[in-house]
Amino acid sequence: MDLEFDARSERFRQEVSSWLDENAPRGRVSPPATADGLRQHLAWERRLFEAGYSAPGWPRRFGGLGLDLWGETVFDEEYVRRRLPERLNKMALIHGARTVLVHGTEEQQQDWLPGVLDCSDIWCQGFSEPDAGSDLAGVRTTGRLDGNEIVLNGQKTWTSNGAIATHMYALVRTDPEAPKHRGISFLVFDLRRPGVEIRPMRQLHGHSGFAEVFFTDVRVPLTSVVGELNDGWRVAQTALRLERGSARGSHTRLVAALDALTKAVDAAGADRGLRERAGSLRAWVFAYVRATYALIDTVDRGGDDGVVASVNKLCLSEIQTAIHELWLEVLGEEAELAGEFGPYGELLGMRRDYWHSRAQEIFAGSSEIQRNIIAERGLGLPREVSR
Ligand SMILES: Cc1cc2nc3c(=O)[nH]c(=O)nc-3n(C[C@H](O)[C@H](O)[C@H](O)COP(=O)(O)OP(=O)(O)OC[C@H]3O[C@@H](n4cnc5c(N)ncnc54)[C@H](O)[C@@H]3O)c2cc1C
Repeated sequence: MDLEFDARSERFRQEVSSWLDENAPRGRVSPPATADGLRQHLAWERRLFEAGYSAPGWPRRFGGLGLDLWGETVFDEEYVRRRLPERLNKMALIHGARTVLVHGTEEQQQDWLPGVLDCSDIWCQGFSEPDAGSDLAGVRTTGRLDGNEIVLNGQKTWTSNGAIATHMYALVRTDPEAPKHRGISFLVFDLRRPGVEIRPMRQLHGHSGFAEVFFTDVRVPLTSVVGELNDGWRVAQTALRLERGSARGSHTRLVAALDALTKAVDAAGADRGLRERAGSLRAWVFAYVRATYALIDTVDRGGDDGVVASVNKLCLSEIQTAIHELWLEVLGEEAELAGEFGPYGELLGMRRDYWHSRAQEIFAGSSEIQRNIIAERGLGLPREVSR
């Protein structure tokens, strides 16, 4: 299913491939929420950083390689193909800190970006709250201005990597009198402050990928605000667009899952109906890979990915789930044995990927929300009316 990239990108692919083959961690790396796992992830991140591969798409002056989107895509494809550890600072690298590159001041960029790149700081995203998920503009965490400081009170939830994060980028209501989408500010701040309480959420598989984060009179400097005060909704749109639109090698992951499904279908001597479904999924994946490259091309040429990013995210979620559901069906009872457990009780392999496919339908805006965006902004259908 591979398409050919230009000669420069292919040369970079060779370079990255050799480096990854030589330097990638041998054996499995534990989840970052465990002490061992955090140590292993940090050691791996340090190697990437020293080789200049922390953020190939970032500007050179901040330690990146200044590559275009195609160069980044090549890196991501080779990284994902080898199933290497999930990047520890992915939320900063892909959307949080990248938003600072777009909207932040020079001083903010100088202050925050180096720590992201070498992983001396780990960022998490503080958008969701108990009553603000799909309806993100409903955030209730308040930020009261007090001289040169903002005083935070409230709660964030579903904070991925919250248990190990040092910094958060968050949406906070700084003007409670303003209409819902105004009066919100986008802040980046150090979590190691009095009044911050991080409660890791222990999940079914035993470790804590999420945390709840509570703020009680937490004082952060006014310089934490990215963009203008009370204009955080606009800034957040950049972060959300980057989160939704970035392929980050997900097309490579999908192709790998499809190949594994095809093997399972063959090995099980599956009937004609199951084979036809696998064949139809192959066509979907084929189309998805090409649509992803088209999206990358649009963004690389400075175009707006807009609604197409939502189409792409929705298709990824749907195809991924369909592949894993069919896989479970093909394996039948054996599926119960197919899920391995790692030393920390975490799920590995196909079963982990299955559950991840379900989560994919929720994070970065659920599939229903993507459908609303496509219907309203893409197709111009009437907005949903609440009864
Ligand atoms: C793996 C994972 C990681 C996450 N990491 C983070 C993180 O790091 N930081 C962070 O801030 N958040 C994170 N989240 C939270 C995520 O952003 C929210 O779960 C998501 O936005 C949905 O919000 P909710 O859970 O409050 O569900 P709700 O908004 O309550 O939605 C419940 C259901 O109703 C549907 N629904 C809601 N509104 C509409 C509508 N208008 N039209 C049609 N259907 C609708 C939804 O699609 C969903 O099926 C993560 C979630 C997951 C699963």
